[in-house]
Order: sequence, then C-alpha cells, then structure tokens
Amino acid sequence: MMKMLNTMDFITNLGGIKICDLHLSMYVNNEYDCACGEKHMFTYDSEIICQGAWKLVLECPVDNNYVTCVKLKTKFLGMGFSGFESIYGTRLVEDYENENSRIGFNYIIKKHIGEI
Ligand SMILES: [Zn+2]
Repeated sequence: MMKMLNTMDFITNLGGIKICDLHLSMYVNNEYDCACGEKHMFTYDSEIICQGAWKLVLECPVDNNYVTCVKLKTKFLGMGFSGFESIYGTRLVEDYENENSRIGFNYIIKKHIGEI
C-alpha cells in the first residue's frame, strides 16, 4: 500500500517544483504503481502535473483524484533510467475546505511553477 500524504506534505516533499522539462522518450513505456492501487504505463499522454527533484508528479489516468509522486531511478553513476519508484501519493477532494482540496493543490503547484 502506498504511503498517502496530505497535499501540503506531498508538495513539501517534492524538493522544488517546476514545469516538466525532461525528454520523455527515455521514460515512456515503463510501468509505475499509482496511488489508486493499480499499475499504469507511462506514455507521452500521461498527465504530468509538475517535476520535482528527480521526481515526477503524475495524475492517475483512471481516477484523476489520485496523484502519485514517482522517483526517477537511475542506473549506476546516473547512467540511464532504470524505472519508476512510486514514493507517495495523495488523493484530492472537491471540498475546498478540506486540506486535500483540488483547488488548493492546483493553486500551490501553479504558484510554484509561475503560472499565477
Ligand atoms: Zn491510477
């Protein structure tokens, strides 16, 4: 079972947030464990919310309330990609007064990446 955090801890643990600027070709067609409990294939169509320090924040393709932070594992000495390691997730809710509100989460992310 994946470690689930509230949205504030989720964001704090990313260690810096920016818009994803990775070349995705190295990462596509690799599976990752999603916070929804299923495995999904990472593709060019995967919804990348943002990028942290050697991490990606991915929206679940089945239930967009689930968001997963995946670490980009590298091979020895950082030579190449060796797969995703899901480290924690969060579950967004529509209630704006809840600490896991989608509105609050989106606002903080957009503020960090300079879209607000
Ligand atoms: Zn999922």
